[in-house]
Amino acid sequence: SLNSGFISSAGEAVSRFESLLALQCDTKHALATTSGTHALDLLMYALDVQPGDEVIVPALTFISVGATIARAGGRPVFVDVDKESLNLLPQAVEDAISPATKGIIAVHTFGHPCDMNALRKIADHHELFLIEDACEALGATVHGKPIGGLGDVAVHSFYANKMITTGNGGAITTNSDQLS
Ligand SMILES: *Cc1c(COP(=O)(O)O)cnc(C)c1O
Repeated sequence: SLNSGFISSAGEAVSRFESLLALQCDTKHALATTSGTHALDLLMYALDVQPGDEVIVPALTFISVGATIARAGGRPVFVDVDKESLNLLPQAVEDAISPATKGIIAVHTFGHPCDMNALRKIADHHELFLIEDACEALGATVHGKPIGGLGDVAVHSFYANKMITTGNGGAITTNSDQLS
């Protein structure tokens, strides 16, 4: 509120928001960012995506998902989505894996969670990182477990057209002490 004297950046409101988001996603950590796109860019850096690296993404998604990989110098590899959920088809992901594959970005499209059990198995088997893009799905659950804590790390957006908004804003949630 105006009376608090708080304007922007670090302050009580941000840490409270982060704590509540971590509670919602059942993760150890939540970190506010300036947007969902910024959260993805930070992760490309943290997960060391380099020129020549491939990252698997759904063929139907928001532009930021492919662009963040390209900005890091990597190559987005677009794979088919399921007709019903519009989410990554695990078999298509498996088929797209090459020696250059470094990770997967699983986008929970329009609020529908991806098949995280299948994607987790594929990622573990091939030693790939697994990012959840939860920008369109805050509040969704898979067998009672909230999205946002089902991969290695997740990104959120609080842009005006998302589930909840801060005008512009984003976040990262994770159980990893290393990534936080
Ligand atoms: C909105 C959105 C983003 C980017 O979030 P911004 O806060 O607008 O940068 C990334 N991925 C998906 C799937 C989105 O819907």
